[in-house]
Amino acid sequence: MPFSSLGLSPALVHAVGELGYAAPTPVQAEAIPAVLRGADLLGSAQTGSGKTAAFALPLLHRLQEGARHTPRRVRALVLVPTRELAAQVGEVLRSLAQHLPQPPKVAVVFGGVSINPQMMGLRGGADVVVATPGRLLDLVEHNALKLSAVEMLVLDEADRLLDLGFAEELKRVLALLPPARQNLFFSATFPADVQALAEGLLRDPVRVEI
Ligand code: AMP
Repeated sequence: MPFSSLGLSPALVHAVGELGYAAPTPVQAEAIPAVLRGADLLGSAQTGSGKTAAFALPLLHRLQEGARHTPRRVRALVLVPTRELAAQVGEVLRSLAQHLPQPPKVAVVFGGVSINPQMMGLRGGADVVVATPGRLLDLVEHNALKLSAVEMLVLDEADRLLDLGFAEELKRVLALLPPARQNLFFSATFPADVQALAEGLLRDPVRVEI
């Protein structure tokens, strides 16, 4: 099955071609149409399954379709456990978005480095924020960003988020989001705490396993 049959805009299909992806991975072929139609998603996906593009492509497609705000407001939030993963996901989003007629602004924020450059980077707003939970909350407290317009939430590597002790921060972030939103949840493992988090977040999710 080619990427062009999944319902993605031509600019996104062009970008995956440039990245050298010949055809969707199984997780992408199942997840992309489901996310495009607005479903919540529960993905049991290991790193290497192509899960990043599985959420990034339909996320970028849906952002193009929705109403834009002036100034920019954060419409998609991707929460990740580590700065390395934040940088990597931000990079994939930017590569995939490069041919879109109105590319979204993607901001990447994580802890362990000075907050000031990240605050500067958020001036003028961002459409998509990729973040580790603690730094995200710091930035909200500094009024550097607001989460009240988030339409799509992605939890990437949810098991590692909990393993690294982010449960409390996660709870605080979730409380700041509008309740009507699409939720995409990815984890490699599903111990009881991850299962409970998924059940609390997802509404009638499409399950994708590989
Ligand atoms: P991920 O599971 O998102 O960490 O992706 C693992 C690796 O697979 C990354 O290096 C991607 O660039 C690559 N990749 C993702 N989707 C595809 C695809 N459809 N075809 C070939 N490579 C891919």
